[in-house]
Amino acid sequence: MARDKALIVGNWKMNLGVHEASLYLHKLSKVVKIHRNVEVVIAPTMLTLQTLSLQVNLRQIKLAAQNFYWRDHGAYTGEVSASQLRGIVQFALVGHSERRYVFNESDKDTRAKVQAAIRNDIRPILCVGETLSERTANETKDVLFDQLIGGLANVTSEELDRVVIAYEPVWAIGTGKNAVPEDVMNAIQAIRSQLKHLYGAKAADGVQVLYGGSVTADSAATYLALPDVDGLLIGGASLDDHAFASIIEKAYVSKK
Ligand code: PEP
Repeated sequence: MARDKALIVGNWKMNLGVHEASLYLHKLSKVVKIHRNVEVVIAPTMLTLQTLSLQVNLRQIKLAAQNFYWRDHGAYTGEVSASQLRGIVQFALVGHSERRYVFNESDKDTRAKVQAAIRNDIRPILCVGETLSERTANETKDVLFDQLIGGLANVTSEELDRVVIAYEPVWAIGTGKNAVPEDVMNAIQAIRSQLKHLYGAKAADGVQVLYGGSVTADSAATYLALPDVDGLLIGGASLDDHAFASIIEKAYVSKK
């Protein structure tokens, strides 16, 4: 996948009901330009995906699932599979820290989900990042390596360009704390060098790596200007259509 494209992903988490989501998409559609080098993705709640998939212009905005179960069908009460999401979403978050730490998802779950997404023609956005205590203990690189190996174990080098990696330090998510650009660069360089080690330079160089963690309309340009950052994963700020539109605008400028 082309790294000259910036990928801007809005994760709404458990917010916005069917009507609010539809209204938001209506407003966002009015301001998002179709830009060759910027891809805009929203990840609404599961409940709203079907409705939004009928409303959205995919050339302008794409859809992501926030979660799904890795098996394709069966007796799994309450779950929705990637095969059921096929054709409705183009991307899916996998291994988000809220899935890892609130719902105790393991690397094994994450790996199965990455596979299920790829098998169903959905691009997984594999989220990796260290907690504050891991950071304080100087374990950031080890955590990133473990999460990458854990999540990508069954991915071939041919499949790697379907995968997006999001570096999201857990301590920066939803906290208003900003990672300093140098730390983001170091972490993303470590991610890319691990990808190189696993898949070789050519395959690793093509992988889009995003940054996420309390990014706002004010801080977006700083991260987008970093040469190793191929886009942003935005939580809180994506709930405000003006703020999200302004972040997208910064991506247009960074990709001019
Ligand atoms: C996220 O949910 O992935 C995220 C980065 O959230 P926030 O921007 O609110 O920190």
